[in-house]
Amino acid sequence: MKSLEPLAHESIYSWVVRYHLQIGVGHEKNTYRQLFNYEKIRIHPYLPNHVQCLDKLGGNTADVWLEDHTLYPLFKFFGHDLNNKLKQAMLTHTGNTVSAANIAQSRLCFEYGHKYCPVCLKEHLEQTGIPRYDIRYQIPGMTVCPRHNCELNIIKCGDIGLDRRLTFPKSFAVIPTFNPLLIIFAQFCMDVFAITKQLPCDPLLLHRLYWHHLEKRNLVTLGKQLRMSLLVLELDNFYQGFAFTAGLESLSSFHFLGPLLRYRAHKPSHPIKHLIFAFWLFDKDASLFQSEQDSQPQQVECSEQIQAKPDETGIIAMLRKGLSMAHIEKITGKSRCYIRRLSEINGIEHKSNLQAFSNRIRVMVILKAKLGWHRKAIAEALNVGLGYVEQVISNTKNLVLWRKKLHELKNINAALKELRRAKVLHPSWLRKDFKAQHNKAFFYLYRHDRELLESTLPVKTKPHVLRHDWSMEDERLSQAISNLAPDDNMSLTAIAQLVHDRGHLKRKLDHLPKTKALLIELGKVAKPPQKNTSR
Ligand SMILES: [Zn+2]
Repeated sequence: MKSLEPLAHESIYSWVVRYHLQIGVGHEKNTYRQLFNYEKIRIHPYLPNHVQCLDKLGGNTADVWLEDHTLYPLFKFFGHDLNNKLKQAMLTHTGNTVSAANIAQSRLCFEYGHKYCPVCLKEHLEQTGIPRYDIRYQIPGMTVCPRHNCELNIIKCGDIGLDRRLTFPKSFAVIPTFNPLLIIFAQFCMDVFAITKQLPCDPLLLHRLYWHHLEKRNLVTLGKQLRMSLLVLELDNFYQGFAFTAGLESLSSFHFLGPLLRYRAHKPSHPIKHLIFAFWLFDKDASLFQSEQDSQPQQVECSEQIQAKPDETGIIAMLRKGLSMAHIEKITGKSRCYIRRLSEINGIEHKSNLQAFSNRIRVMVILKAKLGWHRKAIAEALNVGLGYVEQVISNTKNLVLWRKKLHELKNINAALKELRRAKVLHPSWLRKDFKAQHNKAFFYLYRHDRELLESTLPVKTKPHVLRHDWSMEDERLSQAISNLAPDDNMSLTAIAQLVHDRGHLKRKLDHLPKTKALLIELGKVAKPPQKNTSR
């Protein structure tokens, strides 16, 4: 097979057309068969499939074809290929690349075709003798050429368009554009595309980058909430005069911002949404996509924490050397209380007030604290200050946690005793009675020891469904209506009111046969139609 090198920024379709015109023989199906082993295929303008067939052709591997001659890098960067489905679909012919990229649902109606700048194309034709479709102009949502300030033309694909033909455009009509924002935006799109070829896909990092810049613009509250209405207002002001046409109409409301900026359950947003948002956020500077270091505030916090640990070991080392607390405080800037606590926890002797009492007293305090004594009770019993007791407790490893657990056990025990006593006093109580009368004890056990609660409460009873005794009601109503002896003018509503029917005469008459018969007899209710059984 003869070789034809692809041009810089050339789309795969463009290369195939050139191949057909320069190397191919006869009908288009011969070219298709030669390149893709199929007689008929359609080549998507920017997400084509069958790319594996081009491996080693034109001196490129399949990966280079994907990176340099399709929009795969752009879609990959914005998270459309996290599970490698898109790449797989593009390399092979097994799946639809548009659905693999997850963009079919984005409700954007871009025209399906190959876009080109007539001036660029003509220039290329004059310089090299053959035109070329530029892959960068295929970016969805890009409508103008930033070099020549003119609108991009399009050759439609699909059944009513190009279908499977391999051809370059014949028309070079130029429609100039005077919208500076559109031109800068087009340049921004091309710059971003170039950057995405060099960066890996990291949706989380991208998310942090956006939020970092939003914080800079004061659009995030202290509670990390987005000031959405303000954000939409700013974008709306920024995009005044920007033509949201050619498929971009639905984006002018900026409803896409919510899903784009909320990372939870991350679903990729169409690249054009990122481009429109980032164009404003980065103030038209595509290079900010590369400023990853700005977007890692959380990692900075982590590194600070890591640095804090050597501080701790440094202080311990200084304490072991016998440096005074005042001296260590001066060097490290840490409080005396913190330094004393470190020395206590690590069993290093020091000469502060905390060691004014003998070691025997200290051990006694710890023992009583372990037994769950109250701090005040310990202080009184050992004749020491409350502050001393509190310091010893907090400076003894795991003692606070131990006392917390003891406290919880004590409360569980008290709640259990309360419920058991109530059970003895009220053997007929149902579970709901315990909940209502001993609410606090009930819920303490519910939260801390569900099994114990279940074993203490009486067994669950089946709900008792009350059945209405319609025969009694039937008797009562028929009797009342008979006593009333209504005349012809009295309406059913009036009768119902006088006999206090509770709505039964109109809604539940089928349950009241005797009353129904009486009402039919009185002509207040229509007779049910007789079923005609005779032939
Ligand atoms: Zn151009």
